[in-house]
Amino acid sequence: MKIRTRFAPSPTGLLHIGGARTALFNYLFARHHGGEFLLRIEDTDKARSTQEAVQVILDGLDWLGLNADAPPVYQSTREARHVEVAQELLANGKAYKCYCSAEELQTMREQAMAEKRPPRYDGRWRDRDESEAPVGVKPSIRLKAPREGDVVLQDLVQGTVKVQNAEMDDMIILRSDGTPTYLHAVVVDDHDMDITHVIRGDDHLTNTFRQIQIYDAMGWEKPQFAHIPLIHGADGAKLSKRHGAVSILEFREEGFLPEALCNYLLRLGWGHGDAEFLTRPEQIELFTLEGVGRSASRMDYAKLTHLNGVWLRGADDARLREDVVLRLAKAGIVVDAHAMERILHLMPGLKERAKNLEELAVSAAFLARSVPLPFEPKALAQLTEDAKAMLGRLVPVLEATDFSAAAVDAALRGFAEAEGKKLGQVAQPLRAALTGSTMSPGIDVTLEALGANESLARLRAVI
Ligand code: GLU
Repeated sequence: MKIRTRFAPSPTGLLHIGGARTALFNYLFARHHGGEFLLRIEDTDKARSTQEAVQVILDGLDWLGLNADAPPVYQSTREARHVEVAQELLANGKAYKCYCSAEELQTMREQAMAEKRPPRYDGRWRDRDESEAPVGVKPSIRLKAPREGDVVLQDLVQGTVKVQNAEMDDMIILRSDGTPTYLHAVVVDDHDMDITHVIRGDDHLTNTFRQIQIYDAMGWEKPQFAHIPLIHGADGAKLSKRHGAVSILEFREEGFLPEALCNYLLRLGWGHGDAEFLTRPEQIELFTLEGVGRSASRMDYAKLTHLNGVWLRGADDARLREDVVLRLAKAGIVVDAHAMERILHLMPGLKERAKNLEELAVSAAFLARSVPLPFEPKALAQLTEDAKAMLGRLVPVLEATDFSAAAVDAALRGFAEAEGKKLGQVAQPLRAALTGSTMSPGIDVTLEALGANESLARLRAVI
């Protein structure tokens, strides 16, 4: 049997990290078993679904490298099929028409509440003859669910979970306006898409019992279910804006690497010994549902930030440059061919110092600028008259080198000694003049990356 999983987001808001983790688990599980990972956009709530939200989901998954093996299925296009299955259930006596009006249902609810009973539909049309139907009322279709016995779920994460049929009322599968309900549509789609494993947030657990009733009524084979715990904020409360970034694209904006985020989300609530760092191939090899814990996990932004720095330092320089160039362009800084080379050249030093791609871009900006540079106040403070005079004496010394890091380093040491200064006393004003800031990778590699012409032009502009 080919393993098939799916990620089934509703395009009604942003793609948040909980959703991203659900997608990741589905993806890894499918890959681990050599199966398929599918995407279904659950856009049946026409009032709340938007095209922008669909795009955010597609972009987010693409960014995370969680691409589906087939084009997405749009649930809204499958309505006729959902209706067909509802009609089949009706024809087989597994469902019935309910002619209750909205007012009648409201009264039923209020009465139940007043008597401190759960507000359930009482099944008043379950066995009633259609000839009793009020004229002009369009019926909804309800599942004729069993009233005795239990629904037993062997959940792959939660273990055995049981609910008595008596606790569930006859759910509507087709509304009186002819549209399918969400619970029904999901079952029909999962069946038709040959989904073998439904991995989703444990907030769907109660839905699953109702969905199982539909599978059983149709005599369909059920998929296996795995309900994964939700992600909470560090304080244990439901994750929200006040905890920090929540939307996937916000993490991208802030400069997180998709590998770091996936690595973090995987480790959040899934473990394999002490393994902290896992590449995608390792994740695929090791991922099993047995490793998923049952309690809610807590989002730890500090840990994610740390992990991001480690992934950043290990990332390919050319790829990092690509991202840096995009970020600089957004900030209105054009990167010409020279600057492209300089950025790549200095990348090993730059990435050592950055926690995220945004910081990396900021730290690389000086390489793309031209004289006159903008100066940070702290850098300006370095450039006293004495310092400028010293830089004036330094220029011919540097000019005599080939601007390789080694030659520059030797020349600077010699110059500092001759001036009776510590190396740092030379390097700091020099750095300020070259970068407009007080922080950069080693001054020798910085000079090497800028090259003779640009370095000297910057020094002369200050002097
Ligand atoms: N569309 C549902 C959601 O976004 C998920 C449904 C499912 O996974 O079965 O929460």
